[in-house]
Amino acid sequence: MIIVLKKGATDEQVEQITNKIKEWGLAVHLSRGIERTIIGIIGDEGPVRAKPLEVFPGVESVMPVLKPYKRASRDFHPDPSVVTAPAPNEKGRPAVFGASAVTVIAGPCSVENRASLMKIAGAVKAAGARALRGGAFKPRTSPYKFQGLREAGLELLAEAKAEFGLPVVTEVMDPRLVERVAATADVLQVGARNMQNFDLLRAVGQAGKPVLLKRGMSSTLEELLMSAEYVLNEGNPDVILCERGIRTFETFTRNTVDISAVPVLKRETHLPVIVDPSHGTGHCDLVAPVARAAVAAGADGVMVEVHPDPASALCDGPQALLPETFEVLMREIDGVAKAIGRSA
Ligand code: PEP
Ligand code: MN
Repeated sequence: MIIVLKKGATDEQVEQITNKIKEWGLAVHLSRGIERTIIGIIGDEGPVRAKPLEVFPGVESVMPVLKPYKRASRDFHPDPSVVTAPAPNEKGRPAVFGASAVTVIAGPCSVENRASLMKIAGAVKAAGARALRGGAFKPRTSPYKFQGLREAGLELLAEAKAEFGLPVVTEVMDPRLVERVAATADVLQVGARNMQNFDLLRAVGQAGKPVLLKRGMSSTLEELLMSAEYVLNEGNPDVILCERGIRTFETFTRNTVDISAVPVLKRETHLPVIVDPSHGTGHCDLVAPVARAAVAAGADGVMVEVHPDPASALCDGPQALLPETFEVLMREIDGVAKAIGRSA
């Protein structure tokens, strides 16, 4: 922690602050420049962060040196973390995030019915996806729109998982349902709208399953990392971060994908980072270019919505890829991944 004093701060003011810091059990490094005096606090600054240092007379600003997202930070854990959703059965393979391979999660926006889910799961597996996505509990802006099949949706996801051996990624919106959703899900998704639902973050932190944490639509990357911190702080080290576009003034796209979020997050944190170009762009023709860009920028994976009949999809049809378009995208991802020295 560095305390910058105002021009003309008096010796008494400096002494008052340094005495206080020593009272808190920390050492002080005083640097008297021509213009200003700077006080450095030496030792674990954690407990000092809550103290109102700004209110001391003579203080101009207070700057923390350590990151507020301690457990998510690269300072705390310099090597990249690898998050693994184990293979559900002998038909499948684990989904690994944060290693050399670029891992693709694909599936419908919502689970709609058995036939369509099975068709999509078979197609995305054949194309090389490593995990199946599908919402059973859907966070919809309108209460009048399809809310998901809920319990029945989870049962269908369990069937698809058993049939294809694909680990399942599905959203949980309510802390009271975490245990139930975790019984089916291999990765618990916390959606953009719930990124700062702190009770939910604590609950998924205790669920014993990897968590896919999506960036809130108006959240900074620091806020995303602080939300990850809630999960990590419960003892769950398996958090995957997801850039899914943020709100800007642009209207040609549903959201604006912050591609620079990928290298920034990779620099700041050891956690795996993926991109969702489907919600990020909102248009099927923009999904592949942004997915390729995400991989080129260093993303550990992408999550893509796929539907065999987008026109009749119950949710997010305009951004769904047809299975055959998804297959083309998988080959492109392979090419980009290899070009930057990763495997697909
Ligand atoms: C989703 O992935 O199903 C979803 C609702 O996305 P987001 O939370 O990013 O809007
Ligand atoms: Mn969707």
